[in-house]
Amino acid sequence: MEVIWAPWRLSYIKEATKGENRDGCFICKAVNESPEKDAENLLLHKGKYSLVILNRYPYNTGHLMVCPVRHTGDFTSLRKEELEEIDETLKKVLKVLKRAFNPEGFNIGLNLGKVSGGSVDTHIHYHVVPRWLGDTNFMPVISGVKVIPQSLSETYSILKEFWDRLDD
Ligand SMILES: [Zn+2]
Repeated sequence: MEVIWAPWRLSYIKEATKGENRDGCFICKAVNESPEKDAENLLLHKGKYSLVILNRYPYNTGHLMVCPVRHTGDFTSLRKEELEEIDETLKKVLKVLKRAFNPEGFNIGLNLGKVSGGSVDTHIHYHVVPRWLGDTNFMPVISGVKVIPQSLSETYSILKEFWDRLDD
């Protein structure tokens, strides 16, 4: 994967290294807060065993994460029912992103452990990054600091709408 210029990720890495336990975990925080805060927390979906949350410091528009609800950084501890639901949720995520933003491809991946490049290694999360031809070139254009929060809430409402309509 090409290196995408994403300077706002620096503050993410600084913030994320504080979250060593469940209390400091932004994923658990999003799940445990009231549903009224879902938009603020960028929580798109919470199932029984899996959840979907938008990445606050995205590599690309629509960059989101699929995680187990359970706080664990140990992939080998995931149970069958957790893995099955995560897979189903991943499928749903791809459908929703495809309908909402029509990407030409996706990067899907896990970083396990800090040494792999994962800045949050205490709560497993699959990164799903939609890709468009030439997107590495347009990233610097939209990387202005003020643009990010606004485009994130916009991205959230678009994806939320498509997510809720998926079963239609
Ligand atoms: Zn957690």
